[in-house]
Amino acid sequence: MAGRKITVIGSINMDLVTSTNQIPKVGETVLGQSFHTIPGGKGANQAVAAARLGGDVTMIGAVGDDSFGNTLVNHLTNQGINTENIMKVKDTSTGIASIIVSEGDNSIIVVSGANSHITPEVIEKNEDKIFDSYILLVQLEIPLESVMRAVELAKKHGVLTILNPAPIQKLPNELIEMVDYLTPNEHEQALLFASLEGTEQELEKLKEKCIVTKGSKGVMIYKNGGKIEIPSIRVEAVDTTGAGDSFNGALAFSLCEGAEIEEACRFANVVGAISVTKLGAQSGMPTKKEVKEFLQ
Ligand code: ADP
Repeated sequence: MAGRKITVIGSINMDLVTSTNQIPKVGETVLGQSFHTIPGGKGANQAVAAARLGGDVTMIGAVGDDSFGNTLVNHLTNQGINTENIMKVKDTSTGIASIIVSEGDNSIIVVSGANSHITPEVIEKNEDKIFDSYILLVQLEIPLESVMRAVELAKKHGVLTILNPAPIQKLPNELIEMVDYLTPNEHEQALLFASLEGTEQELEKLKEKCIVTKGSKGVMIYKNGGKIEIPSIRVEAVDTTGAGDSFNGALAFSLCEGAEIEEACRFANVVGAISVTKLGAQSGMPTKKEVKEFLQ
């Protein structure tokens, strides 16, 4: 529906991807095959997914005072995202993921950098943005206390919240109790509920907030005390990186458009499928027009 806004609060990273035939051992130097810088971070990815579909998206996050920061903010602006509330943190690096890819194996170092400067105080400064939105979409690549504060403020203002619990970590029950929807993949759901406290009945109630993404098996939602399985769309998967991010952005977009939850999950299931047909996380995320064409 026109005028409904999505606020994404989360990470903004530059992925530094090196391909090599041989991952170097300690003390060793090897020649690599190629090197690419690719915009990433779950927050930014999900913001891009929603914006490509035509969503009115505001991103709240942080970058460092380095060239990656400028590049990433420009990139998000070019995607049609409101970037006015992205902080530039002095004397800090932009978040990066240094990824070494070698014959199907990879090793990754993530440096949170500026993302770790998104404190609860920063969230509070952006309360008006949260208040102004229909949906708040958050993940777990910024400090947990800031995610908590964002969800608290959203709840205070009656804003719908989606928490994508990735990368998975132990979460306080209060957070799960506050959010409207949780979007774990199967693995994250199992780990999350193994770590929560409460009686079986209490946990079952919290589980009903989950929209569980199941990769090539589609999505599962809980509805009216039962479960609904939404099978995946058959596609030739080329790269599944960012499938969950595409799903989350599309889910937020569709809910803003007025879809009810099952319909929104069916739409996000299509967007997730299209995203795996192309290389890269953000580069595989379709526009609304591409989704329409795919469904014809
Ligand atoms: P994550 O990337 O967080 O692990 P999933 O792998 O569960 O998330 O993928 C998210 C969604 O993307 C799935 O629920 C599904 O809709 C879609 N998807 C992922 N992989 C495929 C695939 N191989 N074929 C079709 N759809 C897929």
